[in-house]
Amino acid sequence: MEHQTYFHSVTLNKDLCRGCINCVKRCPTEAIRVRDGKARILGERCIDCGECIRVCPHHAKRALSDGMEALDGFKYKIALPAPVLFAQVKHLDHTGRIILALKRIGFDDVYEVGAAAELISQSTMEYMATYQGPIPLISSACPAVLRLIRVRFPDLLDHLLPLQPPVELAAVMARRAAVEKTGLKPEEIGIAFITPCPAKVTAVKVPLGNQSRNIDAAIAISRIYPQLIQEIKKMQPEEFVHLSHMGRIGLSWAANSGESTGSGQRRYIAADGIENVIKLLEAVEDEQFTRLDFMELSACPGGCVGGVMNVENPYAAAARIKRLARDLPHVGTQWPTPEWLPEEVFFNKKIEPLNVMALSNDPTQALEMFAEIQSYERKFPGLDCGSCGSPTCHALAEDIVKGYRTEDDCIYLLKDKLEHLAESLAGLSHPTPTEDYEDDSE
Ligand code: SF4
Ligand code: SF4
Repeated sequence: MEHQTYFHSVTLNKDLCRGCINCVKRCPTEAIRVRDGKARILGERCIDCGECIRVCPHHAKRALSDGMEALDGFKYKIALPAPVLFAQVKHLDHTGRIILALKRIGFDDVYEVGAAAELISQSTMEYMATYQGPIPLISSACPAVLRLIRVRFPDLLDHLLPLQPPVELAAVMARRAAVEKTGLKPEEIGIAFITPCPAKVTAVKVPLGNQSRNIDAAIAISRIYPQLIQEIKKMQPEEFVHLSHMGRIGLSWAANSGESTGSGQRRYIAADGIENVIKLLEAVEDEQFTRLDFMELSACPGGCVGGVMNVENPYAAAARIKRLARDLPHVGTQWPTPEWLPEEVFFNKKIEPLNVMALSNDPTQALEMFAEIQSYERKFPGLDCGSCGSPTCHALAEDIVKGYRTEDDCIYLLKDKLEHLAESLAGLSHPTPTEDYEDDSE
């Protein structure tokens, strides 16, 4: 399937936005500006991490996703539940319940993404056994991190583990199996990913590292949850106990460090939360980790359990994942490893850097612009107050040099300017004595 080249799940509802700049200050790629009292997302910089959704006190930011109707035109419908979906239901006693509930709300079949994650874990081990390139290798599973590297750390692209995210592999396997089972054409089969975060919605619509789009819809966990809960209440154990194929390794991918332990890493760091991720990527750029093999980085706090499209508290979800994993009968997936796996598991398209942070492609011009930015910064108070609607004084200086703003947007410079103007006006209304003024008071 051809895929579109531009899409963002995270959007702004202007009517709700009050221009408070909370989101401006927290965006990891400085992708938000407030203009005329309303936030505005700079699409080329946004990585759909969802951080602005988390911090907006007015619920003005939201994430777009599909509904079940997105699969209406397909003859056979398959759900790909993210491992973290199984952590959303309080007191869940068996992963098979979720699978049966998905079937009852309209899916013909269900492929657990966790089972594909186990095949990716296996492929990671095999790839790293002979790998000779730059270390640490950085996991490519979190699409927000992938996009962050592309936008802010393009020099680290060759550290990326070049393997497909589990959901893409699950989609390829599910479609092939459905064609075989039903005799339908591949395009008659509709596949929906049940997702915990906007970054994965965007990755479904505009995949990175993939020539073609394998998934037809991305449905938010929060959107499908009310229907699932209704169904889960009405089940007998004999109806669902045989339905789950995922093992402990795959389910554990839902929380931080699940991927690293699942792929048998010994010298690794698993970090979560976008600010921690940025600090670690800066450290990799500075070559501080020369003896580390692997880095698992998740943009959301706690890993996928912290995704903004979940319904459960991330800590409760992480605890539930541990409990459910303990109770699963198998360590790894019960799916047979397909013969075609080795070649299909790799990225089939190069991930290019996105030079949106660069001042200019012409080095001479970039240097001139940088000097100009510095001269503006010297004029600014350096408070990074955000009152201008840009995240920092440096960002405002950059916006001015790029022609998007003027120095009057800095309220401190504007205040000085107005004070001078007021003094000048006051001087005009009370003229000072001049040489030809004659004192005739005597
Ligand atoms: S946090 Fe951002 S989107 Fe929300 S009201 Fe403030 S400026 Fe608007
Ligand atoms: S989703 Fe993330 S990158 Fe995009 S505007 Fe919000 S905070 Fe910035």
